[in-house]
Amino acid sequence: SSAETVEIPAVVEGQGREAARPGGLEALAVSAWFGDHKVLQQVSLRMPAGEVTALIGPSGCGKSTFLRILNRMHELVPSATLSGEVLLDGEDVYAPGRRLTDARRRIGMVFQKPNPFPAMSIYDNVTAGLKLTGVRTGRGERDLLVEECLTKAGLWKEVRDRLRQPGGALSGGQQQRLCIARSLAVRPQVLLMDEPCSALDPTSTRRIEETIRELADEVTIVIVTHNMQQAQRVSDRCAFFLAAQGTPGGIVEHGPTGAMFDAPQDQRTADYVNGRF
Ligand code: ADP
Ligand code: MG
Repeated sequence: SSAETVEIPAVVEGQGREAARPGGLEALAVSAWFGDHKVLQQVSLRMPAGEVTALIGPSGCGKSTFLRILNRMHELVPSATLSGEVLLDGEDVYAPGRRLTDARRRIGMVFQKPNPFPAMSIYDNVTAGLKLTGVRTGRGERDLLVEECLTKAGLWKEVRDRLRQPGGALSGGQQQRLCIARSLAVRPQVLLMDEPCSALDPTSTRRIEETIRELADEVTIVIVTHNMQQAQRVSDRCAFFLAAQGTPGGIVEHGPTGAMFDAPQDQRTADYVNGRF
């Protein structure tokens, strides 16, 4: 409906990573439950605009849940509840009256398993999110957008001559880059990535890592990874999540990536980043 229509914001040229710009995320005292099972306890984390923040920690400590809370996907689970606040540029994503589609458009998500629409063309996969989030575009504008987003995702040269072929015909790594292009089409300010490389081979993984570093110039990125080398290669800062036996997940330690790996403050962080559990 027209009430849900939003305009594509213009690209702002010439902004360096240090410049003040939109897309900063902050979680304040976020707790989360599935039914009466509490899975996150008072998580607070600043994810600055223009940086890559890596969420690390063992399975089951709530990293995916935290990521899904950031763009309001958590509430899709009927039993899910939460408390606390998520601020995007200082404004509560959960404020009453704030449109769900607005949060979803400004905060994109890429999943572990590449999930393009397999029967849909490469071209239509890239533009699929526009309609879903109510962005209106003309045909010529769409063509340019498809090229731009596939270029940013590092896929343009490989697919420019076969944009009408189905997304499902691409390799796993290409499908994941198609999903990144699809996310970029609505010009998000934040891109959430939940283990985006764990289903991919090492070469595809390295290419996605390069793409992540390039995208960080214009999009705030929060990435969950189990790969400690990857966390060091792509992230500016890290947050180490842990759920002690029978307790909800929380952040043990967070800070600049170099410090987290070279001089962790907490013994549990040191043990984890050195592969001891
Ligand atoms: P991680 O991504 O760190 O592996 P998750 O966020 O997936 O952790 O899970 C955190 C906890 O929440 C786990 O105990 C998991 O079993 C539980 N959980 C996750 N999703 C659901 C769900 N849809 N319903 C019930 N419990 C869930
Ligand atoms: Mg997970």
